[in-house]
Amino acid sequence: MARTNLFGKSQGDIVKIAEEMGLPSFRGRQIYEWIYSKGATLFQDMANLPKSLQEGLEQTHCVDYGKILENALSVDGTRKMLVQFRNDSRAAVETVFIPESQRGTLCVSSQVGCSLSCTFCHTGTQSLYRNLSAAEIAGQYMIAAWMAKDLPRKVNHRPSVSNIVFMGQGEPLYNFRNVGAAIKLLTDQDGVGVAPWRITISTSGIAPLIPRIATELRVGLAISLHAADNDLRTEIMPINKTYPLSMLMNSCAEFARLAGPQNRRITFEYVMLDGVNDSDQHARQLVDLISTLPAHVNLIPFNPWPGSVYQSSSPARVAAFCSLVRNLGIHASVRTPRGDDILAACGQLKSAHETTKTPTV
Ligand code: SF4
Repeated sequence: MARTNLFGKSQGDIVKIAEEMGLPSFRGRQIYEWIYSKGATLFQDMANLPKSLQEGLEQTHCVDYGKILENALSVDGTRKMLVQFRNDSRAAVETVFIPESQRGTLCVSSQVGCSLSCTFCHTGTQSLYRNLSAAEIAGQYMIAAWMAKDLPRKVNHRPSVSNIVFMGQGEPLYNFRNVGAAIKLLTDQDGVGVAPWRITISTSGIAPLIPRIATELRVGLAISLHAADNDLRTEIMPINKTYPLSMLMNSCAEFARLAGPQNRRITFEYVMLDGVNDSDQHARQLVDLISTLPAHVNLIPFNPWPGSVYQSSSPARVAAFCSLVRNLGIHASVRTPRGDDILAACGQLKSAHETTKTPTV
C-alpha cells in the first residue's frame, strides 16, 4: 500500500490526521514541527514521539520532498538541481540556488514545462506537462535548505537560503492555487518560517491575477517585461497579445496600491537582446512606461542556450542602457550572470526529461 506523504500538509491537516489515528492533537503539532521546523524526514528521528507511534507512522506515512536526479555545481558556487516527483520521469523540474555574500536566493519552479513560449527562454521550448503541487514547490526549498544546513531551523540565525523567487520553470500565476498553498507553508511561523517579504513572484504578465499577489499572497512582484512597446513585446512574449502593456501597467499600479510597504517596489526584468530591445530609444520607452510606478529595473544580459536565436547585448551597451535609465530617474541594476556554465542562469532552465503536451492537473 502506498504511504501517504505528510509533507505538503498544513498543521491543521496533520493535527486532524493524528486525531483520526486516535492520538491527542498535540502529537499532530509535534509531528508538524518535526517536519517543517526541524526538517525531519524519518519518523525514527522524531525523538519526542513514542517508539510505537514512530513505527506505526513509518508503515502508513512518509515525508517526501522529491528526489534529486542531478546536482550540478557551477564554478561561481551556483547549484542547479533536477528534482523528480512521484517517481514520474516526466515530472522533473530544475531548481537553482545562488549564494551571495549577503543572501542566498533559491529560484523555484512552479510547473513542469510551460504553456507560454517566450522566445528568449529555454523553458519555453518545453511543453507544459503539469502544475506542481504545493508540496512539490515547497519541497524544492526543503531540499535546498537541507543542503545549506539551514535545517533544523535555528533562532536568531540568518539562513543560507534567505530568499525565494518564483523564476524557475513555469508561469506561477497559471498555478495560483498551489503556489499560494506553497507560500502559506513556507511562511508559517510555526513551521518553515520564511518572511513573506523574502519571497518574490515573477510573472510574464497575467494581468488579472497580479493584484491578488498583494492581497492574497502578500509577497513581492517581478514582471518579466523585456520590451516597452506592444509589437516588440508580443514578438518576444506572445502572452502580451492577451494582456497588452496598458492592462499590465494598470495591474502593476493596483498591486503597488494594495501591497504592504515591504512589497510595494516592483522589479521589472529586462533581458538585453543585441539589436532587438537595447537601443537608447528602447530605454526611454521603458522609463516612460514605468515612471509612475515604484519601479526597479533589473537588466539581464541574455544567457544563450542550445538553439537560441538571440545574442546578448555587449557589456558596453548594457552599461549605457543602465546609465540612461538611471539618468531618467528609475533605479536600475545589471544582473551578473550566475551559473551559466551549467545552464542555470536566467532563461536557461529546461528539465532534461522532455515532455509531450498533456493537460494540466
Ligand atoms: S519566461 Fe517564464 S513564462 Fe516565459 S516561457 Fe519561460 S518559464 Fe514560461
